Amino acid sequence: MSMTRSAAVIGAGFGGLALAIRLQSAGVQTKVYEKRDKPGGRAYVYSDDGFTFDAGPTVITDPDCLEQLWALSGRKMSDYVTLLPVTPFYQLCWEDGYRFDYANDQEAIDRQIAAKSPDDVEGYRKFLAYSEDLYREGYEKLGTVPFLNFWSMIKAAPQLIRLESHRSVYSKVASYIKDDQLRQAFSFHSLLVGGNPFDTSSIYALIHALERKGGVWFAKGGTGALIAGMVRLLEDLGGKVELNAEIDRIEAEGDRVKAVVLKDGRRDAFDMIASNADVVHTYKALLRGTPRGEKQARALEKKRFSMSLFVVYFGLSTKRPDLRHHMVLFGPRYRELIREIFSADGLAEDFSLYLHAPSVTDDSLAPEGGSAYYVLSPVPHLGTADIDWAVEGPKYRDRILDYLEEHYIHDLRRDLVTVRHFTPFDFRDELNAHLGSAFSVEPILTQSAWFRPHNRDDEISNLYIVGAGTHPGAGIPGVVGSAKATAGLMIEDAQK
Ligand SMILES: Cc1cc2nc3c(=O)[nH]c(=O)nc-3n(C[C@H](O)[C@H](O)[C@H](O)COP(=O)(O)OP(=O)(O)OC[C@H]3O[C@@H](n4cnc5c(N)ncnc54)[C@H](O)[C@@H]3O)c2cc1C
Repeated sequence: MSMTRSAAVIGAGFGGLALAIRLQSAGVQTKVYEKRDKPGGRAYVYSDDGFTFDAGPTVITDPDCLEQLWALSGRKMSDYVTLLPVTPFYQLCWEDGYRFDYANDQEAIDRQIAAKSPDDVEGYRKFLAYSEDLYREGYEKLGTVPFLNFWSMIKAAPQLIRLESHRSVYSKVASYIKDDQLRQAFSFHSLLVGGNPFDTSSIYALIHALERKGGVWFAKGGTGALIAGMVRLLEDLGGKVELNAEIDRIEAEGDRVKAVVLKDGRRDAFDMIASNADVVHTYKALLRGTPRGEKQARALEKKRFSMSLFVVYFGLSTKRPDLRHHMVLFGPRYRELIREIFSADGLAEDFSLYLHAPSVTDDSLAPEGGSAYYVLSPVPHLGTADIDWAVEGPKYRDRILDYLEEHYIHDLRRDLVTVRHFTPFDFRDELNAHLGSAFSVEPILTQSAWFRPHNRDDEISNLYIVGAGTHPGAGIPGVVGSAKATAGLMIEDAQK
């Protein structure tokens, strides 16, 4: 590099931090500006009454994509944070009492499938082979390649056609597996990155292979400890993170951006600026008043956005050894409920929940003798359902806790020490998320790869995007992959 270049990253989510680490490791002087008082974005941490609650991501897959961030500077992730294996990966539960322990143990999976639906043993094998194929083509080859022009998409097309990526996750799973509950067990994963399994491209069935290959992990001390490790790595490399530093706008001049202007009026100039903030917020608010900002904001607002989530964090004074670390609690309806989450203008009476019970793996998250939890329910975003969450939030929280008490955690109310919740309003107001979406632009085929907002802006040559709203998309491996794609472009541009 001929001279030291400087870069600003707006937002300290997984994507923003991973990008900053890559840039700083390559010699670009990088500063991250984060609006909130703690880093992590969706991976924020609450500390209440001696309990530690990870706000968002808890299922750590593809640890290699994280390890690479340390390897860039010859360091080791294990010197900063410890990853613990989680077994089973998930326990899947239905109201009729059926449970499926989804673990990385072929024999155990086969045994459970054979007991439930003998015909599906062979079908599952075929599904796994299909998922592995998708993983190679969709994740290994294309996951960290920036799709800047249509030609890059055309080159990938033959593989995507061969893999029938125009079909939905559910329809491909259903073509291999007959049993209704097993179909749910192997198709719900796209919800973890904001995709409706009945609508999202079957490419997202690669998550199954990703988990089988890389395992499911939990950071000791919680996901917050992983974020803290990433911040420490960045600072050890000479990069900076400023908290409570909300960017008010990005100063642009023609086809270049010049500086970030903070809410407190400070103006800091940089050679390159990357936004990890929500894509609509980036163009509509941060680039307000510029022709590019207005045009792109209008285009983005026409896109479909992922659903939102309602999350309840709670601590109990007792331990519950009968629970597993990750539990998916299916309700009585699957297809219909998911349809309503993506398109109905109100809340359903029933729900399907994800229960996080990290005290099963890690004793440090609750006071002695107690246990920490969160439970999340996918809900429509604010553009789909105009719900007043200030009023409905506490009622919905109580309905969910009642349901848990009735079906999974007896005497929950008796042992309840602390509780808080996070609604679509909070996604909108705390995280600046368009429509309160939890996962940004919905991962459907017509909004993937080249069709997704690009890692480098098409018109402003030194403005970049990183995180869930750009390629490849949401989820930790997705946004850390987006950081690789974006960093590649920035480092190349810095050398020009
Ligand atoms: C409840 C929940 C559970 C999840 N579980 C999992 C899981 O188990 N596994 C998994 O892999 N993924 C999971 N995900 C998805 C994953 O968390 C996200 O896709 C990912 O963390 C998003 O990262 P990001 O880099 O896009 O940034 P974000 O986390 O969205 O961070 C963006 C940051 O930008 C900041 N910001 C916004 N505007 C400004 C501004 N103007 N100035 C300064 N800063 C600003 C925000 O405060 C925020 O910190 C989950 C998501 C949620 C919500």
